[in-house]
Amino acid sequence: MDNNFLDKLKEISGDSALITGKAVAERKAGIWIDEPIGASAIVRPKTTKEISQILALCNESQIEVVTHGGLTGLSQGAIANTEQLALSTELMTEIEEIDPYGRTLTTQSGVKLQTIQEVSEQHNMFFPLDLGARGSCSIGGNASTNAGGNKVIRYGMTRDLILGLEAVLADGTIISSMNKMLKNNTGYDLKQLFIGSEGTLGIITKLVLRLKEKPSSENTALIACDSFEKVKELLKHFDSGLAGSITAFEVMWNEFYTLVTTSPAENKPPIHQDYPFYILIEYSGFDQAIDTEHFNSLLESGLDKNLISDAVIAKNEKERSDLWGIRDDVEQQFRLGPIKIFDVSLPINDMETYLENSKKLFTKHWEEFHFVVFGHLADGNLHIIAGVNKDDADSMRQIENCIYEPLRDINGSVSAEHGIGLEKLPYLDISRSEEEINLMRTLKRSLDPNNILNPGKVFS
Ligand SMILES: Cc1cc2nc3c(=O)[nH]c(=O)nc-3n(C[C@H](O)[C@H](O)[C@H](O)COP(=O)(O)OP(=O)(O)OC[C@H]3O[C@@H](n4cnc5c(N)ncnc54)[C@H](O)[C@@H]3O)c2cc1C
Repeated sequence: MDNNFLDKLKEISGDSALITGKAVAERKAGIWIDEPIGASAIVRPKTTKEISQILALCNESQIEVVTHGGLTGLSQGAIANTEQLALSTELMTEIEEIDPYGRTLTTQSGVKLQTIQEVSEQHNMFFPLDLGARGSCSIGGNASTNAGGNKVIRYGMTRDLILGLEAVLADGTIISSMNKMLKNNTGYDLKQLFIGSEGTLGIITKLVLRLKEKPSSENTALIACDSFEKVKELLKHFDSGLAGSITAFEVMWNEFYTLVTTSPAENKPPIHQDYPFYILIEYSGFDQAIDTEHFNSLLESGLDKNLISDAVIAKNEKERSDLWGIRDDVEQQFRLGPIKIFDVSLPINDMETYLENSKKLFTKHWEEFHFVVFGHLADGNLHIIAGVNKDDADSMRQIENCIYEPLRDINGSVSAEHGIGLEKLPYLDISRSEEEINLMRTLKRSLDPNNILNPGKVFS
């Protein structure tokens, strides 16, 4: 990247927007990545117009661009090499409008998810997307990865929470599709091209988000269960008892629960550690007294039907947040030595057999290994923390095969919510047909003929 090019970037965004040299390497490549950002330079525009000019310049100069949001992505989607320019949205932090009647929030793409949640609350509204990285991830990154999180069963994925979007194409063309209406069937829904495409088709600059009315009651319980069959029955029990409006149904297998409730983890086990399954269930409603009575009656009937072995109910916000603290303490995984976290999706009915088959493959290759399962079970999404006390490339590749190959026959997905990035490139064909991948390539070629936007991610 020559000085002439860097000078032009400065002309567009100003001196202070550009980071070069040692200062680039002082930044970490990702929240859980110990390596520095590999890019040649980082540019930090403030407006859509600047991004349009930057991309037009990059397209003309054949400089590849990797967009950076909060760098919390878990599939190596934002990794850049020394020839590439990183474009960070960290200065695009303006929330432009909030409309409690139209139930929309219009924002630039660099705003942190937690800020959007808090600003919505200040207007007595609610933005339901929620994930452990809320304080660091950007709403543009959430859109680009179509993030899921803890409340998908009730409110859907990020895709379901976006009404409109503005993006800049590789040649600098601004596509402004800032629709605020729930219904708009005028031709192709172009925003969908950019949602979940991991920065390979355009850079998302603005979004119209769909807000919900703020729930005024919360009921949360941690339940222990003694079989997977009962976990499934309990999901049905609560789902039908709440007319399809459970807010969260997070399941922790014994190994995960034990890991996150044993010192040095800060959380203590509210229920003893002998059960095979623990469920964190939450229901948000409209009246605390009425909802609590109904929620507790469902717990009681669950006990009567012998679906529940033990349970604790959060009696206040502190206890609720403590229960979520257990589920969210995923960083305890690093106590297990070199590990990899997986994010697979499959029908709930196939989960037990899938896990057995995958574990059998581990047993074939290694005498000792970690296989720790938790996840958004009601969405069909499991996270598996796997490790074999080695981190060489061959072992990692073998671990990936043990997790991904058993998905092939059951039409499972190698990525429920984290995306493909670089990490899952070799496994895309497990979840997508040749024709689907070819159509993806056709779209990529037509929107980005010079292949400058996050090249090599999603497919090679
Ligand atoms: C503790 C923890 C918990 C997590 N929990 C969840 C969870 O429950 N559910 C879930 O889905 N994910 C989860 N994640 C993963 C991660 O937080 C999400 O993928 C998140 O959406 C990434 O947002 P980001 O701003 O950090 O994006 P980045 O990591 O910066 O980028 C991710 C991808 O999006 C692209 N990108 C970023 N911004 C833009 C933009 N404006 N335009 C175009 N492309 C862009 C990047 O190039 C990259 O390909 C978790 C991560 C952590 C660390």
